[in-house]
Amino acid sequence: MTVSYFLSPEWMIDGTGSPCRKNAAIGIQGETIVSIVDSTEIREKSQDDSFPRIVDLRGFTVLPCLVDSHVHLVMSGSNDPEVRERQLVSGYSEAGDRIQHHLQEHFRYGVLALRDGGDRHGYTLRYRDNLSGPSRSPYVSAVFAGKAWHREGRYGGLIGRVPLKSKGIAESVAREGDQSDVIKVVNSGLNSLREFGKQTLPQFGFQEFKDLWNMARRLEKKVMVHANGIEPVSIPVDAGCDSIEHGFFMGRENLEKMAEKGIFWVPTAVTMEAYSRLMKDDAKISDIARRNLDHQLEQIRIARECGVRTAMGTDAGSPGVDHGKAVIEEMKLFMDAGYSLEEAVMCATSAGADLLGFTEIGQLKPGMNAGFLVVPGPPSKLPDSLESIQMIWRNGKMVYEKCAVTPDPSGDQNHRMDE
Ligand SMILES: [Zn+2]
Repeated sequence: MTVSYFLSPEWMIDGTGSPCRKNAAIGIQGETIVSIVDSTEIREKSQDDSFPRIVDLRGFTVLPCLVDSHVHLVMSGSNDPEVRERQLVSGYSEAGDRIQHHLQEHFRYGVLALRDGGDRHGYTLRYRDNLSGPSRSPYVSAVFAGKAWHREGRYGGLIGRVPLKSKGIAESVAREGDQSDVIKVVNSGLNSLREFGKQTLPQFGFQEFKDLWNMARRLEKKVMVHANGIEPVSIPVDAGCDSIEHGFFMGRENLEKMAEKGIFWVPTAVTMEAYSRLMKDDAKISDIARRNLDHQLEQIRIARECGVRTAMGTDAGSPGVDHGKAVIEEMKLFMDAGYSLEEAVMCATSAGADLLGFTEIGQLKPGMNAGFLVVPGPPSKLPDSLESIQMIWRNGKMVYEKCAVTPDPSGDQNHRMDE
């Protein structure tokens, strides 16, 4: 296939976890990547007038657009109880504006695909269905859980509702039809910030999950399960699900089973880092949050070791976890837990894309959508360099540029940044 132009970055991270590649040139035709070659090859030929245009990105790193696999768009990262309460009870017009604003924040940090883990009123679905065209953030693809499912009297009311009385969860999901993009089930409580490692009982049993899993297959929907603790995780893992969300204190055995069954894990470790930061005036709570985080990082290390597919998800909208920005913090935590930069990028790109079902994004290779982030400097500046993204490309077009580059009469070094 003919190439209309090449992007020629100094460094490229392709989203597969492979080591960063130097001097690659990405050939683009229309909305698609059609080739990836060595830039020395094309620079030699580029003297020829008929040769495709080369966008010279020396001094920059190119990586795929990011995917945040767990957010709550109706909530902000504010820790002010009054603000949070207002956000929980606000009507759609306010919530819709907030959703829009948070999508823009994701875009700003290069998150161009995300999965929303649920909201109490189903406003995210209303947003999805009501807005189209330019008023909706045009470059961020999203899948929405709408209202999550939880057991009556148990945790989950902030993000969902209970199954119909006298009907099981599977039947309730079936009656709802096509509304949600993904099914979200809450199967444990929250992590205690008063007692380290305290586990809660599961909300649904093995048979309920089995029935739900069969129903979900029939509806062609994925199932994401909020679960902390050994038993709340093992039940959906045994019965069938696509991903475990949070998974604090789930233990090695569950991780090994998840690796074997190809079930994704979205650890949302940054939530505990945020609590330990926000609660610093209460030494006990702050300390437990920190220990929860350390335990989770140890589990992430085990997950990497036994081959669990981990996808980056921040739980943005939790106290202290800001939309967009939090992905940088979560990537750093993955690296603290032993992931290389390229592997952390993989979790925030191709793994998330696979989990969310976006087949054209997440990797830089022929056939994929020509969507990229261009960040200043070498890969060693990542993930912090996501704070100052230079360009964003989607569907073969540049959709964001930080500032216009002024032509430098001295030659082609005008893009060069300090290393
Ligand atoms: Zn969540």
